[in-house]
Amino acid sequence: MYPFSYQRATDLAEALAALRADPQARLLAGGMTLLPSMKHRLAAPSRLIDIARLPALRGIGLDGNALVVGAATRHGELATDAQARTALPALAHLAGLIGDPQVRARGTLGGAVANNDPAADYPAAVLACRAKIETDRRTIDADDYFQGMFTTALEADEIIVAVRFERTRRAAYRKFAHAASGYAMTGVFVAEFDDGVRVAVTGAGPCVFRWQAAETALTRDLSAAAVASLTLPADGLNADQHAPASYRAHLAALMTRQAVADITGASA
Ligand SMILES: Cc1cc2nc3c(=O)[nH]c(=O)nc-3n(C[C@H](O)[C@H](O)[C@H](O)COP(=O)(O)OP(=O)(O)OC[C@H]3O[C@@H](n4cnc5c(N)ncnc54)[C@H](O)[C@@H]3O)c2cc1C
Repeated sequence: MYPFSYQRATDLAEALAALRADPQARLLAGGMTLLPSMKHRLAAPSRLIDIARLPALRGIGLDGNALVVGAATRHGELATDAQARTALPALAHLAGLIGDPQVRARGTLGGAVANNDPAADYPAAVLACRAKIETDRRTIDADDYFQGMFTTALEADEIIVAVRFERTRRAAYRKFAHAASGYAMTGVFVAEFDDGVRVAVTGAGPCVFRWQAAETALTRDLSAAAVASLTLPADGLNADQHAPASYRAHLAALMTRQAVADITGASA
């Protein structure tokens, strides 16, 4: 490590002021991404502003047709929250698939959504559930939020306060996890609303994306048959030491079929 200072903010205003006072400062939530990045010298903030315990960022609750989850909610808390499991069970299920018990005990929704790792799980739920990202100054639609690999619509000094997930009629998330880390080699979230079906794919490309051909087919007919022969073009998908693009394309179709089977109760 190298020298840096640490500050535990007591409220949102203090965190924002500290962030603005030092352009090299970074917010610290669960530290599950930021601290390894610092250890590997990929990040070198001068100051860590700890927001993990801010009351404004805590809590899970219903507001109209939305499940509102505070940014500092840990993955393990969301996975086991009774209200979340009833209101949006696919989201709670997804949270329970992240990493391992240690990661779920520390990592937060806000940290994951701010980081926008291409293999992270939450972005698929945020995009499929047409969530709204509430920050200290505005509300950003999921369709406008994810902009590329590790890139979002957030300003450098902007803090995510909560994420509003629209409740679905039915939904399911399936991922093919990397055997060591648990990150999504490819994960697919299928969400059915009164006015159609949304399908979001994570892990396969540089950034989470909607699979429009699958959405069209499933909006017409939410059944295994509707996606049985659907294939995702491999162009532009990730190819690395873990898998070629063609394999990720295959996984996207397979995870979609499995998620649809979870929704309909048929076999994939
Ligand atoms: C071994 C391991 C396995 C993992 N497996 C998975 C997995 O299977 N699936 C998965 O999705 N993820 C996985 N992760 C990542 C994990 O979910 C992290 O918790 C998450 O990506 C970052 O959340 P955090 O709260 O730890 O954020 P931090 O590491 O504290 O912060 C990450 C970034 O977000 C910023 N930030 C944090 N909170 C906010 C906020 N409220 N507003 C604005 N910016 C903010 C920070 O400044 C920093 O830049 C894994 C991590 C590890 C170490």
